[in-house]
Amino acid sequence: MAYADMVTSKTIRELIAIKRNLELAADEVGCFTGDDPDLLEAVEAELGKRKGQTTKDYWDCHCEGFRLHSRDQDKCPDCGARREDSPDSLAVKVEEEIQRLSRAIQCLKEDDVYAVIDNALPPGVKAHLKWPPPRR
Ligand SMILES: [Zn+2]
Repeated sequence: MAYADMVTSKTIRELIAIKRNLELAADEVGCFTGDDPDLLEAVEAELGKRKGQTTKDYWDCHCEGFRLHSRDQDKCPDCGARREDSPDSLAVKVEEEIQRLSRAIQCLKEDDVYAVIDNALPPGVKAHLKWPPPRR
């Protein structure tokens, strides 16, 4: 079972990306080709094994829907949950949310992408990225 060995060496982020790409390929052609179902199965099994794994990088607040906060944030401004009283986030959930947000941004008009990023970046990160970029 070569796929099983291959997936154990992947990070959760890589596994989620592989899964997404396989699902996209399946959507386009209407069915899986060749060995892909085995790979998808191996990826899903590996993600299943790691589903209880938490990350120290994020914690969960009590909000409905998006509830991740980076370790740098002490408190959720919406529900008031505090980092020290809250559980570490599930690593698979963090990576799924990062990929979901990335995909959502790709669906926006360019001006709206700009507005979202401009709104989202903290001042220190803006300076580091030399944001805003020159407008076309
Ligand atoms: Zn919250």
